[in-house]
Amino acid sequence: MNFKSLKTLAVNGKQVIVRVDFNVPIKDGRVIDPSRIQAALPTINFLCEQKCRIILLTHLGKPKATHDPACSLQPVFEYLAAILPGVKFAPIVPGTAEAITRSQEVRPGDILLFDNLRFHTGESENDLDFAKNLAALGEIYINEAFSVCHRKAASVSTLPTLLPSAAGFQLQKEVEFLQKIMEKPQRPFIGIIGGAKISTKLPVIRALLEKVDYLLLGGALANTILKAQGIAVGKSLIEESMVSEVKDLNLVTNKLRVPIDVVMAPSVEPDALSQTVAVANVPDEQRILDIGPETLELYKMILQTAKTVVWNGPMGYFELPQFEQGTKQLAEIIAGLNAETVAGGGETLEAINQLKLNDKFTFLSTGGGAMLAFLEGKPLPGLEPLTIE
Ligand code: ADP
Ligand code: MG
Repeated sequence: MNFKSLKTLAVNGKQVIVRVDFNVPIKDGRVIDPSRIQAALPTINFLCEQKCRIILLTHLGKPKATHDPACSLQPVFEYLAAILPGVKFAPIVPGTAEAITRSQEVRPGDILLFDNLRFHTGESENDLDFAKNLAALGEIYINEAFSVCHRKAASVSTLPTLLPSAAGFQLQKEVEFLQKIMEKPQRPFIGIIGGAKISTKLPVIRALLEKVDYLLLGGALANTILKAQGIAVGKSLIEESMVSEVKDLNLVTNKLRVPIDVVMAPSVEPDALSQTVAVANVPDEQRILDIGPETLELYKMILQTAKTVVWNGPMGYFELPQFEQGTKQLAEIIAGLNAETVAGGGETLEAINQLKLNDKFTFLSTGGGAMLAFLEGKPLPGLEPLTIE
């Protein structure tokens, strides 16, 4: 996949729309994790140096109604204003006549942030007229939002077909890195998949099995596979409808590994008493909430040989301290490897953040769902218009 790169476009002095992902966590009106904003800064700064007039478009959360105040970009603007001189906020829904008028008042050196794209239903419905109104806001389109590239949304998949367009620096770096790993991984190549739902992650498990030397599983999604293999999982979180679908996953070959011991408790409560048992010994009234120390030891032995590691999904219910060891120790193990290591996924990055191990990974992917779709080998609607045949 070759990208139309930002550096090859004549952007100098132009009005440039940058589709960013400023869908950041906000608490009490303040941005609490600005990593996604930080990731877009090299592109924004480059465009500033090129004397562009910059229009920033993003979504935030899942607004219930137009101008849902909980999804206003005001806190994002306040964060930006502190780091980017020249940034202005237009609390106007992009894709409206009012927004077009406002965009015509932008001056060289201005960076104008419009309000939440999802305040208009045209965004998620991928409405062509809405996309045309977005296109009227500028002369050039840059996509710097890898995390939404798996979605067919007006600002992601249609807008780039209406204007000269290119990939932002972060997006390009991210996709080229994932591409390199999937096409020419240094071996042994080890995948690790955990997290909540086997239904959303089975496609990536199957795709990775074609590529990796080992695939290590954990989290709630491993429970459904254990159940399919005839192991009693008590009251563990499983997806009953997926049990028959995962029966064919071959656990007999060495490649696919599931937990051999687990941490269990009768409930997911802060005061729940936990115990560690072999995976075959989970009583009816217990639920599996983490991988156990023997599994960690086994996974560590396998990982120590790795030259490439891809990780998505926590190994357990790491939000409670009784069940955090699997995820945290795994993060430490991967962070200590002499290998190319990439991790992605909302909760996975949260765990890495908590441990302050961000710098110890070769790459942290900003796109959870988009990363999984990419690893599955699916065409991404946001990337296709940015590629050169
Ligand atoms: P990511 O966002 O990193 O892709 P997911 O969204 O798939 O990860 O899953 C994360 C969630 O899975 C976490 O909130 C965690 O509590 C939950 N989880 C992991 N293992 C278990 C388990 N054994 N039982 C219940 N929940 C689990
Ligand atoms: Mg998640």
